[in-house]
Amino acid sequence: MDLAKLIQILIFVLVNIAVFFFAGKKYYQIYKNIQLGKDWDKIDNPSERFKRMMLVAFGQKKMFKEIFPALLHLCIYTAFVITQIELIEIYIDGLTGGHRTLYYAFENITILKGLYVFVINMIEFLSVFAFLATLIFLYRRNLLKVPRLVKVPEMNGWPKLDANLILFGELFLVTCIFLMNGADQAIHHNSYPFVLSGFVGSLLSGLSEGTLHVLEKLGWWGHIFGVLGFIIYLPFSKHLHILFAFPNVYLSSLHKKGYINNMESVTKEIKLMMNPDTAFAAPAEGAEAEIPTFGAKDVFDLKKQNLLAAYSCTECGRCTEQCPAAQTGKKLSPRKVMMDTRDRVEEVALNIRTNGVFVDDGKGLIGDEKISVEELRACTTCNACVEACPVMISPLDIIIQLRRNLILEQSNSPEEWNVMFGNIENNGAPWKFSPQDRFNWANEN
Ligand code: SF4
Ligand code: SF4
Repeated sequence: MDLAKLIQILIFVLVNIAVFFFAGKKYYQIYKNIQLGKDWDKIDNPSERFKRMMLVAFGQKKMFKEIFPALLHLCIYTAFVITQIELIEIYIDGLTGGHRTLYYAFENITILKGLYVFVINMIEFLSVFAFLATLIFLYRRNLLKVPRLVKVPEMNGWPKLDANLILFGELFLVTCIFLMNGADQAIHHNSYPFVLSGFVGSLLSGLSEGTLHVLEKLGWWGHIFGVLGFIIYLPFSKHLHILFAFPNVYLSSLHKKGYINNMESVTKEIKLMMNPDTAFAAPAEGAEAEIPTFGAKDVFDLKKQNLLAAYSCTECGRCTEQCPAAQTGKKLSPRKVMMDTRDRVEEVALNIRTNGVFVDDGKGLIGDEKISVEELRACTTCNACVEACPVMISPLDIIIQLRRNLILEQSNSPEEWNVMFGNIENNGAPWKFSPQDRFNWANEN
């Protein structure tokens, strides 16, 4: 093996080790961040969950409520999945210093060669569709300015840049694939049976062999650096949903729509009150008096599912688009609730990494810096955001937990609500009348 090939293999291996080490560290941090939440909800019925994951996360079922963006998304998603097959060969070439190793390995095995040619042709066609779909996405986001994607404050700054960066990255990757395959075709006088790169090859055929070799290498390395860059970038981006949508859908609630759980601490209190023996019994000797907590005020109080959901959010805004509070101009965006939750998890995790343990920073999830009281009060608990989410996220679940804390721990509710709460507690109804007077109307003339 010549020295140039050896150096190429060495660079390839070192770059991969560095990238997987760095990215692995960040993925591990995210795993630890999700562990900051309380326990997982009960994870039952694995077959139903698996079916849902295949339909919703893999099959993109909920995306098809809006057919045009769904088709564009499908092009990019399918190209992304199928292109990984060609990546296997790129890795084999990178590690062995070979060139189109699988093609030549299958040359004399008709079935495998036919399959290989079919797959590479499919990848090339899908890549062109993905390229066009990406251009349309860029147009929708930056020129057409689709309201759900841009016309909300939470999408300014990094979220906007993040969305555009990944789209430009997609264009770069497809360009590299065609540069690599096209130059390769031109070097080999279009002898490979690949239709689209054959076309690019004929466009490049006037160039010198030296230039073609440089272009082929540029495409090859560009593709590798694009993929490795994507692996590093993913955990810092909303595009983490490509991976996390799967566990998130699998772990999402199987309860009927609109189900709201009882608070364990309240249920326990009521059960104690209903049983006079235990209600007034002194605590057992040595037993520590347990102080119940109500709802969530920071990420530690949320469930692990909620934190995983925050990392799985695609920031698509379908929830906010459907939210009646947002539609009527209230200060509430369920997408922002998910983004704020993720930002707070990252903030808390950095605090822990810096100090060894969490040092109270006087902040939390509730407050003007994150999810304001006004936002929490604006939610009608209608469930429309949950229904709209393509990856089965429930912003409502987080809102309810924060609101429970706001009311039960911080007594932070408007006066009208307090009157209603008092009536429910004393009269068993939201009105001020005593239960004994409830049927007086029937005796009135
Ligand atoms: S449940 Fe709340 S946040 Fe979700 S759509 Fe309804 S009002 Fe909006
Ligand atoms: S919660 Fe769901 S619908 Fe809302 S922005 Fe995130 S992924 Fe989209």
